[in-house]
Amino acid sequence: MAEKVSFPGFIDVHVHFRDPGMPDVETTSSGLAASARGGFAAVVTMPNTTPACDSREIMEYQRRSSSGPVLLFPSACLTKGRRGEELVEFEPLAEAGAAFFTDDGSYLKDDKLMERAMFNVARLGLCVADHALDHTLVRNGVIRDCPLARTKFLPIISAKAEIDAIKRDISICRVTGCKLHIQHISTAEGVWLVRDAQREGLPVTAEATPHHLLFACDELTSDDANYKMAPPLGNCEDRYELRKAVKEGALMFATDHAPHPASKKCNGFVESANGITGLEIAVASTYSVMVLDEGMPIENWAKAWWELPRQVLSPIALAEFDKSRGTTEVLIGQRSKYNLDSSLSLSRNCPYDSMEFDGWPVPTV
Ligand SMILES: [Zn+2]
Repeated sequence: MAEKVSFPGFIDVHVHFRDPGMPDVETTSSGLAASARGGFAAVVTMPNTTPACDSREIMEYQRRSSSGPVLLFPSACLTKGRRGEELVEFEPLAEAGAAFFTDDGSYLKDDKLMERAMFNVARLGLCVADHALDHTLVRNGVIRDCPLARTKFLPIISAKAEIDAIKRDISICRVTGCKLHIQHISTAEGVWLVRDAQREGLPVTAEATPHHLLFACDELTSDDANYKMAPPLGNCEDRYELRKAVKEGALMFATDHAPHPASKKCNGFVESANGITGLEIAVASTYSVMVLDEGMPIENWAKAWWELPRQVLSPIALAEFDKSRGTTEVLIGQRSKYNLDSSLSLSRNCPYDSMEFDGWPVPTV
């Protein structure tokens, strides 16, 4: 018999609903249905929609489109159109309830512009989240160095692309005092940089995704784009350091749920898009890996889903969340398989079909 355990509502601070832009790939309502099945009480949507979420109008549209038991907090762009050229107007977006600011999917390469952005956001008391992956170092890379990359001659992404970006961001955090959140961290050295910054007392947080905690590029056996994401899967050492940091309370969880049509994920690593869906398996997969395999105390595991994510939310989003008093219930002590066919997401780019986990959430109502 499974035992039901209750926690404060879990928050996923990193989801992509393709709304506005690609309603056949994910709408706000299908994304929120998958979030509810995944046991979440709230999610933060990324601004790389079409058009990008760089205005009050788009944010208000996203809020209006949301209904049901899971709260939706939009994040807003750092730069207009996420083009990395001109900063957004932070104040009206903050007043309209932006959870935080990010150009997720793109790295803001211009150091001076990033510094100005973080000065502005610090004044508002909000957080800047960064997709810390320097595209000038990624070039045409699609995977980290690993046996599969070598046998298939796949172009390689150096860990340096993430490490240098995190170093740059932390140095600007030190100057501006702005809260900094490193999204989907994937390298051992990146984790050490974040730990050092936290020990220094800087306001730095970071998130680990289920896929970076479960998989390692060393273990890939086929050119299957359901294992292609940005940042790419790390190697076994990276995964070890990520799990260790989660256990020590240094990283929160987030899914980076990224739906794509089948046509964009069927052509191997070189041609396919980055990202996978993951809202429905996130709670069970992280429970199975971190609590059952790694021996993390269940309360601490849960905190990486509810307490740590609070640090990156704006005061407006937090106040609304606290008013809702959401809870997350998890059934432990019984393993079962994930059936991708039954997914409430509109997309199927997901490597977890038929994988068996314990710790399935009770859908949010
Ligand atoms: Zn990203």
